[in-house]
Amino acid sequence: MLEIRNLSKHFGSTAAADAVNLALESGQILALLGPSGSGKSTLLRLLAGLERADGGEVWLDGRELSKLPPEQRKVGLIFQDYALFPHLDVLGNVSYGLVEQRIPKEERGRRAEELLERMGLGQLARRRTWQLSGGQQQRVAVARSLATRPRLLLLDEPLSNLDAQLRQDLQAEIHSWLQRFELTAIWVTHDRSEAFAVGDRLAVLRAGRILQDGPPLELYHRPASAWIARFLGHKNLWPSGDSFLLVPSAAVGLRGGEPAELESHSSDGERHLIRLRCPEGALELELSSREWAELRQGRDLEVGSALGIALDRAALLRLPGDL
Ligand code: ADP
Repeated sequence: MLEIRNLSKHFGSTAAADAVNLALESGQILALLGPSGSGKSTLLRLLAGLERADGGEVWLDGRELSKLPPEQRKVGLIFQDYALFPHLDVLGNVSYGLVEQRIPKEERGRRAEELLERMGLGQLARRRTWQLSGGQQQRVAVARSLATRPRLLLLDEPLSNLDAQLRQDLQAEIHSWLQRFELTAIWVTHDRSEAFAVGDRLAVLRAGRILQDGPPLELYHRPASAWIARFLGHKNLWPSGDSFLLVPSAAVGLRGGEPAELESHSSDGERHLIRLRCPEGALELELSSREWAELRQGRDLEVGSALGIALDRAALLRLPGDL
């Protein structure tokens, strides 16, 4: 459905997109994860036609996009700041995109109403945008984009202006809309739990380059470098010559004969965060109350207590530091 080949964009000496290659199948959602300044927005802007590439090609549904103006690309874009039109009501906003597609007025209204109903937003149709909460505004922005029936939907950190609880609800809601409408989408985020929750595939971007992409859990369990491992949330990477040993939490057993010393412990009552000092390096582990009890074996553990753990050395991964 989508194929990006060697797409590049420089701003002065900064490579915001550095020979990016990516492919997506129809109906797949790609979570694009990268630190701030890694080129996430630039990549979306290139795909939407808001920025001109220095080189490379983008194929969508058999058409090469780079010669097409934004309005002919069939690419929808959703920003974090909703960008609704304040002078139009919700229905007006949702049917707006259809004006450009030269769809007759009655048909526009009918389609917009039908879509709002399907999305459970029918009761908002006559509201003004300033009468909507942030979450409602973003729902309407999504509806406005879906109304134009894009072949590719780009979401640029769509939840980052919302508070935590709302973020989770809306994440699930938008995700289910994308699936229900079988949309092919790229969802940009710098939040890895969001990336894992919404992505059928995951791509990690750093300094304009795609470092690794594939199924999210495959990236998590087989990161290509220590940097990627850390970025995806792994805590335990032991320096080993000029490479690193990744200790997955599944490689650590809570009973065994290998010496370890408790360096710190904290708990919110449910989860226990502990740090152990082992001969080869430190281990940070998150334990359930039950696992913590297993580790304590009835003793009172304090900082400095000696423990025995098990380490499955065959499960450790040797990784290059950088990539
Ligand atoms: P992200 O979305 O991951 O935060 P961006 O795509 O916004 O990253 O930026 C990638 C790099 O390109 C950054 O170094 C940024 O400073 C630079 N950049 C982006 N847009 C411009 C621009 N219009 N002019 C100059 N530099 C830019």
